[in-house]
Amino acid sequence: MTTSASTRKRIGTIVRDLSRRYLPEGDLHAGETALAKIVAETEDPFKVLISTILSQRTRDEMTEIASRQLFSKYETPAELAAADAGDVERLIKPVGFYRQKARQIVSVSRTLLDRYQGTVPRTYEELIELPQVGPKTANCVLVYGFGVPRIPTDTHVHRVSNRLGLVRTKTPEATERRLMRIVPKEYWLHINELFIRFGKDLCRPIGPRCPQCSFTSFCRFYPRTKWSRDARRRRDKTARR
Ligand code: SF4
Repeated sequence: MTTSASTRKRIGTIVRDLSRRYLPEGDLHAGETALAKIVAETEDPFKVLISTILSQRTRDEMTEIASRQLFSKYETPAELAAADAGDVERLIKPVGFYRQKARQIVSVSRTLLDRYQGTVPRTYEELIELPQVGPKTANCVLVYGFGVPRIPTDTHVHRVSNRLGLVRTKTPEATERRLMRIVPKEYWLHINELFIRFGKDLCRPIGPRCPQCSFTSFCRFYPRTKWSRDARRRRDKTARR
């Protein structure tokens, strides 16, 4: 499927606007998501991998707290592979499903030791074969851990992409596949950070702050909002006079 000229133009407009707002220096190290902060501090793909597992179904703030607590005691695959799961549970307790995630973290650390001498592989195909690693986690490790262009897609990226009319999809996985077909590769590295920041700041799941948004003219969701309905009412009233 080809990308129409209008979609390409729209993607450029969106990325430029959000970059000015959220990444003015064009540097992921200046990002605000938990992963961007971990990268800024460590540049360690292993920590990005573990933080991404911790972030599943968890708020960013809690991911950051749990990651910091965990890495203050265990920093490497070898240390975590030998860790007591109960101790890991205690350190990551701020995140949801912490018992399950503690087992997963120890398990993935052991696999890295067994298969990759304690390093994190840097291809999508190898990452996706690791236990507990799905498409979003693999792509986060590539983008934030190695600077490889991909588009990790969580619920924020999925919702924002649909509202902005870039995709018409039902799941984050389908959104990710579609975005990687239509978004020029030069933008891939920053899409996750930009759309997550926008999705938390303005384009919230409930109660989006549309009057502060630059994309009302083409947003698919905007016509359903009270601001749009009020504007239509005012126009109708003026036309009847
Ligand atoms: S107009 Fe509202 S719903 Fe649409 S993209 Fe902007 S903030 Fe999101």
